[in-house]
Amino acid sequence: MKHEVTHSCGHTQTHTLYGPVKVREDKVRWLATTECAACWRERQRKEPLTAELTYRHYIGSYVVALVGGDTYSIKDAVKAAGFWWGANVTDTDMIFSTHNRHAWQICFRSLAEWEDVLDKLHALGVRRLIVRNDLLSAAMGNELPLPVGGELEVELVG
Ligand SMILES: [Zn+2]
Repeated sequence: MKHEVTHSCGHTQTHTLYGPVKVREDKVRWLATTECAACWRERQRKEPLTAELTYRHYIGSYVVALVGGDTYSIKDAVKAAGFWWGANVTDTDMIFSTHNRHAWQICFRSLAEWEDVLDKLHALGVRRLIVRNDLLSAAMGNELPLPVGGELEVELVG
């Protein structure tokens, strides 16, 4: 079903939504509190390259997603480093479907592999890393050295 949504930035965008009326209405209300895709992309482009590390219980992996900065201009290098393009969905998003932006992502099974991923982030010029211990994945036990729901922001020095 197509829905015209006026976003918080004032721009109108058409969204194709699925599911029961109530679910679509909630989604439209939530979308109206967010900026449109064009504004979001424009803002992302101006940010430093930012990666986010979370654990995803539903795939049994740690995932690093590129969540900010001009990833478009480095997409070939990103692809070559083994990242894939897809919906960036944390354990909490999975349950509440609060968020489904697409992002470049790479996954790894244990924290022992982290150094290798970190080298890739350095090589790509990523400057900021956000480690987020997603509430649900933390409750189900992962090795992130953070309290449940905790968040840590690190500046990566090139
Ligand atoms: Zn806009």
